[in-house]
Amino acid sequence: MPHTIAIVGTGYVGLVSGTCFAEVGNTVYCVEVDAEKVSMIQAGKSPIYEPGLEILLERNVRERRLIVTDDLRQAVRACTMLFLCLPTPPNEDGSADLHYVLEVATEIAEIIKEEDIRDGRVIITRSTVPVGTAARVRSAVDAVTKDHPIAIASNPEFLREGFAVEDTMKPERVVVGTGDAHVRELLCDVYEPFLSNGNPIFIMDEKSAEVTKYAANSFLATKISFMNDLSAYCETVGVDIENVRQGIGSDSRIGKRFIFPGVGYGGSCFPKDVKALIHSAREAGTPLRIVEAVEDVNIAQTERFIGRIVKRMGEDLHNIRIALWGLAFKPNTDDVREAPAFRVIDALLSRRASITVYDPEAVKNTSRRYGTSIHYASNMYECVENSDCLVIVTEWNEFRKPDFARMAQSMNHRIMFDGRNMYHPYDMQMEGFEYYSVGRPDVKP
Ligand code: NAD
Repeated sequence: MPHTIAIVGTGYVGLVSGTCFAEVGNTVYCVEVDAEKVSMIQAGKSPIYEPGLEILLERNVRERRLIVTDDLRQAVRACTMLFLCLPTPPNEDGSADLHYVLEVATEIAEIIKEEDIRDGRVIITRSTVPVGTAARVRSAVDAVTKDHPIAIASNPEFLREGFAVEDTMKPERVVVGTGDAHVRELLCDVYEPFLSNGNPIFIMDEKSAEVTKYAANSFLATKISFMNDLSAYCETVGVDIENVRQGIGSDSRIGKRFIFPGVGYGGSCFPKDVKALIHSAREAGTPLRIVEAVEDVNIAQTERFIGRIVKRMGEDLHNIRIALWGLAFKPNTDDVREAPAFRVIDALLSRRASITVYDPEAVKNTSRRYGTSIHYASNMYECVENSDCLVIVTEWNEFRKPDFARMAQSMNHRIMFDGRNMYHPYDMQMEGFEYYSVGRPDVKP
């Protein structure tokens, strides 16, 4: 039997989850406070760039399985399960800001009380939240009513932006935190169509589910920071880290993924989740020393990259024209939250550089932050015209095999800082470029 499901917060997680729940036959109410997003979704248009999403979204809106609204009451009346896909941004001290989650949980309880809904509701936190949040949601709900049956569960999301539809339709695992047998049954039934390939659903207590999410992201960030730390060492001792990466990645205990050196991780998850875990662990009196180092290395890695640009191009970049490819925090998304490119742009702008940027999807989100203080090119070749150097920050596929001769002709100087090791140093030397990459020897023509 299909379910009627509410998704509260229709951003990267909520919109993809809601669309995929609808795609398998459920009726989904997406509740969203941003009026622009509501009207776009109503028109079958995706407010975010996520491969494969819009076609599913359009179909499910058209077939009335996906209903978007700003009316939480309508969703609470109609749906037994209410998934909270709300932001949990970092507070000043690094802890996760839970006010969206706690306020919406309270609001839901108030509606249930006012409407005297007695056939049971489940509030499921899908946002990334620190250990103990389910208990805080429970208290917030209990403060409103103890007379109405309201269950609480934790169901962290593991999707990757850029592969979000695929990850939601075929998750490698689903994690559910609940001690309630009925909730367990409901969620197993909701996820059943997505697990037909035999992938597992792990049922655990709420606190374990909460920590599982932070542990997963912090472990992945650890792999990246390990390689970034190693890249500095490789540069010093004259070793090509790409050889080392291949050499270790083939060991199945290490694995080939998440061991690419670069300019540091960014995005809406790793930076804030690493910070939140550090904060939670310190608060518990058991600091996580490795995770703390992961964050330090990440900050240092971007600084090191910027340092190399400045060392070569000059402390004062007035009259220096810098082309920059890649703004999104990773390829296949328009998400620029905590994007390393922004840290690079800020540093270069503070040294008065003239910057022209190009990204296949993230220009709109970037222009919201930088306005007219930087220039926007409509393609990668236009971006490098008359530039003194090229800086690559995001490894979009279209940058993989550029026409170097065409670039060389239109650039003032053939200097490239490749923060993603997209090319081979020897090839770049042959193409006549001065080439700086990560964890590999610099080359000059
Ligand atoms: P997002 O900012 O893209 O989406 C959140 C949405 O909630 C926004 O559209 C916002 O307008 C809406 N919202 C805010 N207050 C609301 C309210 N009171 N009622 C209804 N809607 C409201 O965030 P996101 O990237 O989807 O992340 C959501 C949560 O999921 C975060 O905790 C994040 O850490 C976690 N998460 C994100 C990803 C990811 O890749 N983006 C992956 C796994 C987990």
